[in-house]
Amino acid sequence: MKRSIQIAWPREMDADIAVIGSGAGGAVVAKELAELGYNVVIIEEGRYFTREDFNLNPLESILKMYRQAGQSLAIGTPLFLLPLGCTVGGTTTINSGTCLRMPRRVLKRWQLSYGLTDIDETEMDLLYKAVEEFLFVKRADPETAGKNAQIFLEAAQKMGLSGGWLPRNAKDCEGFGVCAFGCPSDAKQSMNVSYIPAALAAGATLLSRCRAERIIINKDGCATGVSAIALDPSPAEIKIHARIVVLAAGAIYSPYLLLKQKICNSSGQVGRNLHIHPCVSTIAELDRRLDNPKGIPQSSYIDEFAADDIMLEGGTMPPGIHAMNLPLSGRKHRLHMNSYPYTGIFGGMISETGSGGTVTVSPLLKDRPLVRYRFRGADLNKAKFAVSLMAQIWFAAGARKVYTPIAGFSEITGARQLADLERARLKPSDFDALTAYHPMGTCRMGADAKYSVVKSSCESWDVERLYIVDGSIIPTSLGVNPQLTIMALAMRAAGIIDERLQGEARRKLNKPEGRGQT
Ligand SMILES: Cc1cc2nc3c(=O)[nH]c(=O)nc-3n(C[C@H](O)[C@H](O)[C@H](O)COP(=O)(O)OP(=O)(O)OC[C@H]3O[C@@H](n4cnc5c(N)ncnc54)[C@H](O)[C@@H]3O)c2cc1C
Ligand code: SF4
Repeated sequence: MKRSIQIAWPREMDADIAVIGSGAGGAVVAKELAELGYNVVIIEEGRYFTREDFNLNPLESILKMYRQAGQSLAIGTPLFLLPLGCTVGGTTTINSGTCLRMPRRVLKRWQLSYGLTDIDETEMDLLYKAVEEFLFVKRADPETAGKNAQIFLEAAQKMGLSGGWLPRNAKDCEGFGVCAFGCPSDAKQSMNVSYIPAALAAGATLLSRCRAERIIINKDGCATGVSAIALDPSPAEIKIHARIVVLAAGAIYSPYLLLKQKICNSSGQVGRNLHIHPCVSTIAELDRRLDNPKGIPQSSYIDEFAADDIMLEGGTMPPGIHAMNLPLSGRKHRLHMNSYPYTGIFGGMISETGSGGTVTVSPLLKDRPLVRYRFRGADLNKAKFAVSLMAQIWFAAGARKVYTPIAGFSEITGARQLADLERARLKPSDFDALTAYHPMGTCRMGADAKYSVVKSSCESWDVERLYIVDGSIIPTSLGVNPQLTIMALAMRAAGIIDERLQGEARRKLNKPEGRGQT
C-alpha cells in the first residue's frame, strides 16, 4: 500500500510544526511531536517508495532515490563521491542499517570543546535506548551475515584484533544484500517504514515531492513558516504557516537553504566544518567462494583502532555496482568480474581530525550547492594504515591479491609491497577518488553564538523558533556511523520543542505547571 498522500495541493496550510526533510532527523521529530498531539506537516523533496517499488535492481533504485543519480560529489584532491538520499526516509532509506552509539570520548569532547555540557551521557543513553527499541536494533545474525563478513572477522580475530557483529535496525533480515537500494522485505527499519508511518498514524501530514525554498521570518526575527514548491504534477507555490519550523534537510542541503536565504549566519559558520568520515575500501581475490552480495552488506566490524580514528566495517556491493567501482579496466576488469563470487570487499572509515570541507552557494551551479573537501594531514596516514590493516587481514584470510585505492599500490600481492606501503609518504593525490557517506557539522551546535549555528537546544542563535535537527548540527567527526545519534538528538529536540509550546500554552491560559491540552 502506498502511503504518499498529496493529490491536490492547497496554496496555504496551517501547522503547529513544519518539518523540512523526512530523514533521520526530520522523521523522528515529526513522529514524536505528532504523537504528542501537535499538527505536524512534513515537507520532503523526494518521492515515497515502499517495498513494492524495490525490485533488487540497484541502478533503478539509484535513479529513483539518490540525489543526482548517486553522483553527488565533494570536490577536492582526491574527489569524494558523497551519496545522499532524496526520498521519503531520506538517506536512511538507502543506508546500510548500522546503528552505533557515539563513543563516550566524543561526547566528552563536545562538552569540553563546544560547551555542550547539558547533553549528558545519562540522557543520551535513555534517548539511544528509546530509538533502539523503536527500531528493533540488534546485532547482525551471523547466519545471515554472509561469508564475506564471517571470513574477514574470523581472520581479524585470529590476529588478535577486536571486533564483532554490528548492531542494526533490521527486523527478520533475510540477507538480501541490497540495503543501500531499498530493503525489499521491509526488514530494515529505515524512516520510510518506521518513524514516518508512525507520524502519519498520529495525524501528521506528509507533502512528498515538495521542496522547501525559504523559511518565512516575521519582522521580529521569528520563523513563522515555510515557503515551498510542490513539484508534481507541475510546480506550484505553497505556504505552510507554523508556530515552529524544524529544518532537517541534511548536512549538505540544510546549510544550502540557509546560505541561499542569507540567514542564521551571524557566526559565519553555516556551511563550514564539513566532516564526512572518508572511506577507503579494499577488494580481495580469494580461492574460496564468498558469494557476495548474498548476506548483509554491512554486518561486521573491527574496532581495535577506533580510538585512533579508524573503524573497519564491511560493505559489499551487488556485481553491477562493484563493476563500476573497480580500479581496473579492459581485460583485467573482465577477468576480475569473472571471479566476482570469489571476491571479498571491506571498508575502512576515518574519523577526521585535520581534513574538512565547506558547502557554499555558487553562481555556476543551479539548484545545488558546491561542496569542497580537503583530505590532508594525519588523516592520510590513518587512511594508509586502514588500507594496510585490511590487506593484512585479507592475506590472513587466504587472499591472493588485494586491490587498494592508493596509487603505486593498487594491487598488493604480499608482505614486501605491504612493507613498502607502510613506509610510503602519501600525498592527497596518491588516493584514487574515494567515497564518504556521513556528512556532518555544517550548522554545528555549540554554547557560544560566535562559533556555532545552533544552541544546544538545536534552536538557531539568530532566528527564533527555527530548529535545525539533522547531521549538520553534529560538531565533530563522530567516529561511528551517525544515524542513531542524529535520531537521539532529534528525539531530544522534540522534547525541548514540546516543553516550549507547553510553556507558551500555559502562559496564555495562565495555568500551573504540567502537560495539558495544546
Ligand atoms: C549508502 C549509504 C549508507 C549509509 N549507511 C549508514 C549506516 O549503516 N548507519 C548510519 O548510521 N549511517 C549510514 N549512512 C548515513 C546516514 O544515512 C545519514 O547520516 C543520515 O540519514 C542523515 O540524516 P539527516 O536527517 O541528516 O539527513 P537525510 O537522512 O539525508 O534526510 C534529509 C532529507 O531532506 C530532504 N531535503 C533536502 N532538502 C530539502 C528541501 N529543500 N525541501 C524538502 N526536503 C529536502 C532530502 O530529500 C532528504 O530526504 C549511510 C549513508 C549512505 C549514503
Ligand atoms: S540485508 Fe536485505 S533483508 Fe536485510 S536489511 Fe538489508 S536489504 Fe533488507
